[in-house]
Amino acid sequence: MKIAIIGSGYVGLVTGVCLAHIGHEVVCIDMDQDKVKKMRQGHTPIYEPGLEPLLKKYLKSKRISFTTSIKEGVQKSTVIFIAVGTPSKKNGDADLTYVENVARQIATNMDSYKLIVEKSTVPAETGQKVARTIRLNLPKKYKQGKKITLDFDVASNPEFLREGSAVEDFMNPDRVVIGVESKKAENLLREIYAPLNPKMVVTNINSAELIKHASNSFLATKISFINALSRICDEVGADVLKVAEGMGLDKRIGRSFLDAGIGYGGSCFPKDVDAFIRLSEESGYKFHLLEEVRRINEEQKQNFIKLMEDKLWIVKNKVIGVLGLAFKPNTDDMRNAPSADIIRILQHEGAKVKAYDPQAVDNAKKVIPHVSFCQDPYVLAKGCDCLLLLTEWEEFKHLDFHKIKSLMRHPMLFDGRNFYDHQKMEDLGFEYYGIGRGLNRERA
Ligand code: NAD
Repeated sequence: MKIAIIGSGYVGLVTGVCLAHIGHEVVCIDMDQDKVKKMRQGHTPIYEPGLEPLLKKYLKSKRISFTTSIKEGVQKSTVIFIAVGTPSKKNGDADLTYVENVARQIATNMDSYKLIVEKSTVPAETGQKVARTIRLNLPKKYKQGKKITLDFDVASNPEFLREGSAVEDFMNPDRVVIGVESKKAENLLREIYAPLNPKMVVTNINSAELIKHASNSFLATKISFINALSRICDEVGADVLKVAEGMGLDKRIGRSFLDAGIGYGGSCFPKDVDAFIRLSEESGYKFHLLEEVRRINEEQKQNFIKLMEDKLWIVKNKVIGVLGLAFKPNTDDMRNAPSADIIRILQHEGAKVKAYDPQAVDNAKKVIPHVSFCQDPYVLAKGCDCLLLLTEWEEFKHLDFHKIKSLMRHPMLFDGRNFYDHQKMEDLGFEYYGIGRGLNRERA
């Protein structure tokens, strides 16, 4: 199938490369000329494991191409995926400016039947607005009064991939959700995904749009639940890891997303929870549960800082080493990374912050500029009053902590992800603090 993807970011590029991998002919479009230039040369502008080799392979076989021209993409393809950003407005609404803009450009360049698919995360009822925008902006020759003479469909196909394992997730989806209003659209989407043989959920567009917001909001709720629980664990001397294990073995609950820490971040959960709260509000329902989810998440960062203040006493002029900056491991994405908020607060209090991340430093420099970025964890540890583990990169499991300890001014470790074994750390001579491990109170 001939497919165009508009927006070649974390979702668009992965989608494009993976669709090429399963046999389609794909043209990826992005308005960022530098990105397009890089991708044409076989380089991915983002860090995503496994993506670059596939990109190179399908560039070579010409199954994937890149352009800045929406016209070219639209005219070459039958199915057009919209995968542009949908950031938050100040009031929490999803900002659909990019989606509208792209819908307009698709319309003005249409010359035959097209299926336009929302891949971006959008609030319910966006599909209708996209369809209306297309109708309004079609070339005059396809409009006879109110009658439209060019056939097209709009569909919703939300994406559930996770950064860091996006290729794997795309190729092995738990389900593929499609929201369609015609058999033709359904058949085209079924044909596209047939090589993956996925479980398909076929519904109307509004339900498909809602499934995405509901899924992310539910996962965020699980995270805030365990984070709230971690507070109680600290107070009553319980270990949140064991509590999560005990809960998670119940199949009705499941262990995933029950990891207490410094809260969720990234480009999706915060904005999608915000947008879902706003959508609910607009539709006449106050989603207090999600407001609380968001509040707990914000509070979690404050609690982490409080713990540090409690144990370090004075933060001003202390040298603080941050291990891990990306909002999660295996990505270079710094959008809404909790590390950035924590670092800003510490800097505001007068701490000197050093940081190391295997992939996210270039992006981190744009959002937290006054940090001393180090080339490895040992340079980072030198002279530190404490270390903070904020992103659980696998390589941090294998650090030489004898060496790290010898380089630090004080061997104190605040583990924002409960990544390390506290007993091992204490045996190594570290003063160790995790989240909800029931240990913090004992040492108060
Ligand atoms: P991104 O910012 O990485 O990529 C968006 C791309 O669209 C950018 O490269 C931008 O240059 C391009 N773009 C914007 N306007 C354009 C235009 N008019 N013409 C051509 N290109 C244009 O964003 P992302 O993380 O890939 O997210 C895209 C959408 O997918 C969002 O709605 C997001 O919520 C959703 N989503 C993201 C993830 C994720 O893990 N990142 C997962 C599932 C869903």
